[in-house]
Amino acid sequence: MKKLYIDFDGVILDSIKTTYDMMDEQGIDKYNPKEARAFYRVLDWNQALKDSHEINHSLDCIRQLIDSGQYEINILTHIVCYEEGVAKINYLHERIPELSVILVPKEFSKTEVVNAKDAILVDDYTENLKEWKEHGGFGIKFDEHARVHEFPVITSLNDIRNIY
Ligand SMILES: [Mg+2]
Repeated sequence: MKKLYIDFDGVILDSIKTTYDMMDEQGIDKYNPKEARAFYRVLDWNQALKDSHEINHSLDCIRQLIDSGQYEINILTHIVCYEEGVAKINYLHERIPELSVILVPKEFSKTEVVNAKDAILVDDYTENLKEWKEHGGFGIKFDEHARVHEFPVITSLNDIRNIY
C-alpha cells in the first residue's frame, strides 16, 4: 500500500475562504498575523467548518480511495490552535470514522512531523510540496482551476489514482 497524505484546508474544505470572509466582515486585517491570530483564538471552529464547502466531493473521493485498498491514508493538516484540531478531527470522524488525522502545529513543517520518504502528499500550498520533495516524497498539487504547475495537478482527489 502506498502512503498517502492529504491536506485539509483548500483540498477537503474551502475553510480558509470561510475564515477570510469572516475577517473581512468583521473589519479584521487578515494579512496582519497578530490580528489574525487573535481572531482564530476566539473563533467557533466547529461552526466555521460547518459553514465551509466541501471541494469537488472530497469526502466521497476519500471514501473511494480507502475502498480501493491501494493507499494507507492520513489527513495531514496544519493547525493554529488546539480548538482547530479538535474541530477538524470531529468533522472528519463524523463523516469517515476510520480516517486517521495528523495535526501539525503551525510552527512545524509537515516533513518535521511525518516521514515524507516515498510517501505522496496532496496539498494546495506549493511550499509544502517543495519541502516534501526535498525530503524524498512525491507531491501532487491540488488546484480547483487546474493551472499548469511544476508538480502534477489534480482538481479532484479521484485523480490521484491516475498519477500514483
Ligand atoms: Mg491547504
